Amino acid sequence: MIERAELVVTTDSGPFHIAGALERPAIGLFRGRRPEHAAAYPTAKVVFGRNAECDAKCDWDQCRDIPCRQMQSITVEEVLKVILNEGSFKNSFL
Ligand SMILES: [Zn+2]
Repeated sequence: MIERAELVVTTDSGPFHIAGALERPAIGLFRGRRPEHAAAYPTAKVVFGRNAECDAKCDWDQCRDIPCRQMQSITVEEVLKVILNEGSFKNSFL
């Protein structure tokens, strides 16, 4: 499914890395705490969630708040902006 997808929007998870490895257009939704963990794939972009309180309280790989406020801070508008500003996404998706 990912190999045939025109655009993959997913969290920091296996599907993001699979899409990146398959060189499919992808947007990864990541917590902001460890930006270096957002693997740089040529066909992928990353949107980071931001919440200072959540960032200060959580472990690096696990949020203690459910739902995570950093992830909740990511908006549909932010993701759409990435799609519209990324020429390769726009050409294949819109
Ligand atoms: Zn969190």
